[in-house]
Amino acid sequence: MADFDVVVIGAGNAGLMGALTCAKKGAKVLLLERHNIPGGCATSFCRGRFEFEISLHQLSGMGSAERPGPLRSVLNSTGVLDRLEFIEMKDLYRVTYPGKLDIALPTEKNAVVAKLQETFPKEKDAIAKFFDFVYAFFAEVIGAFYLADPDISPQKYPLYFKYALVDTQTILDEYFKDPLLKLALSVYWTYMGVPPRHLPFSDMAALLFSYIEFKPYHLKGGSQMLSNALLESFRSAGGKVRFNCPAERIIIQNGAVVAVKTALGEEISTRCVLSNASAITTFVELLHENDVPAHMYEQMRARTVGTSFFTIYLGMDCEPGRLGINETTNFISTTEDADADYAQSKRLSCEKSSFLLSCYNVADSSFSPPGTSQAALVTMKYAEPWLRLSPSQYYDEKFRCAEQLLRRAEKVFPGITSSIEEMDIATPLTHMRYLGHPGGGAYGFDQYAKDSTLFVPPTPPIEGLYCAGSWYGSAGYQPTLTSGASAARAILKKLR
Ligand SMILES: Cc1cc2nc3c(=O)[nH]c(=O)nc-3n(C[C@H](O)[C@H](O)[C@H](O)COP(=O)(O)OP(=O)(O)OC[C@H]3O[C@@H](n4cnc5c(N)ncnc54)[C@H](O)[C@@H]3O)c2cc1C
Repeated sequence: MADFDVVVIGAGNAGLMGALTCAKKGAKVLLLERHNIPGGCATSFCRGRFEFEISLHQLSGMGSAERPGPLRSVLNSTGVLDRLEFIEMKDLYRVTYPGKLDIALPTEKNAVVAKLQETFPKEKDAIAKFFDFVYAFFAEVIGAFYLADPDISPQKYPLYFKYALVDTQTILDEYFKDPLLKLALSVYWTYMGVPPRHLPFSDMAALLFSYIEFKPYHLKGGSQMLSNALLESFRSAGGKVRFNCPAERIIIQNGAVVAVKTALGEEISTRCVLSNASAITTFVELLHENDVPAHMYEQMRARTVGTSFFTIYLGMDCEPGRLGINETTNFISTTEDADADYAQSKRLSCEKSSFLLSCYNVADSSFSPPGTSQAALVTMKYAEPWLRLSPSQYYDEKFRCAEQLLRRAEKVFPGITSSIEEMDIATPLTHMRYLGHPGGGAYGFDQYAKDSTLFVPPTPPIEGLYCAGSWYGSAGYQPTLTSGASAARAILKKLR
């Protein structure tokens, strides 16, 4: 008899959710995590009197208790909801392109439309039509894709069949003329990691629909609270966890998973493995190439490692209002050309990189000690140029980039630099170190249309092996938590 029914590799969102879902149904589960805390990206760290949120800026798909979104339902099924407090944000986002555009969007659909129409009166009708289209199209995406309607046909889902793979830029160009309006409507592309020209409109529609219909949220105490709650529930359900314990090998016999070897040399027999480690770690490092069907490597060779981030975590000695930070989510743009903006993510310099300033204290003054606030300044950056630096160059570049971003933040939020009490900086190499993912890829692979989950089913290519998380589908909290739950359902079906 195997030591465990399931060994879960990685305690990120998907690993935690998968482990908990299996344990709650009576499976014997062991969770292995290479780091010393649970959460992966969903963690925090402390400096001085501040506890900094690593990653979560806007939680999607929550909805209210009265009108639950899909994520609330997933969390509810695990029983962690009662342990957590979710804070609804009062704004969708503010977009600032200094000297050209400054618009803050509310969270209600009609108010979003009205605000955009007031700012761009020449495109009033197109704005209304665009939102009607987003809603009609996404209703079909839900039926055809998420609910997997067995009667799917072009007659029943005409918008889905026509637009599912059309890129976001094409749709924006079809509806609008003003590049600033297109900018105001598409800043969420940075949440997917590829610019509108490469981003399937189904993804952009999902973001707009989900954040408007179910509102953006954050978690009281930050995402670490969610990771801790998932872990505590997992332990209460009888699950076992080992931190500082990387998986080193998944052992396959006769085409099926039989055991996991840890970096500490222990061999643990199991009926199933759920990997939340990156796809490259799983299929190149943890598995022997003879055990992996060749098509897996072909599939991966056609993909590219996605973006990571450069983030400045700021603890400030004043409330956000004093610095003119009145919205939680602030996109500061340098160009209306998203392709040019995206090109900046492949360079070291932050001089021309658009960035996001996220400040939870706007919606929740208790997020940091009284009279203070904390903010994250974050911009997309790929790892390659960082990997080419020597240690001393790395140190210099890190601070040069931080100065560049802070100088630009100062222009939009005067006084921000002189109010800094604590500061820390994360680069793509920081994410590589803490997550163990190639390139520090917090979104997994680049999310191009050709690699969409519409085409690449997350089915296990090896008996007993299941995978979940940002490397195996869409990235973000809602998708990764959901993918952990659905991988667990597949495992439970096999175990039965
Ligand atoms: C700066 C930043 C901002 C973001 N902002 C948002 C946002 O506002 N909204 C949103 O929805 N999403 C956001 N995201 C994305 C989101 O955080 C991630 O997509 C999501 O958390 C990834 O979850 P995951 O399940 O893929 O696991 P990951 O978080 O990738 O964790 C994987 C875990 O596996 C462990 N592991 C790896 N290899 C091994 C091994 N061999 N053995 C044992 N353990 C191993 C790692 O240590 C890690 O704990 C952001 C991410 C970052 C970095």
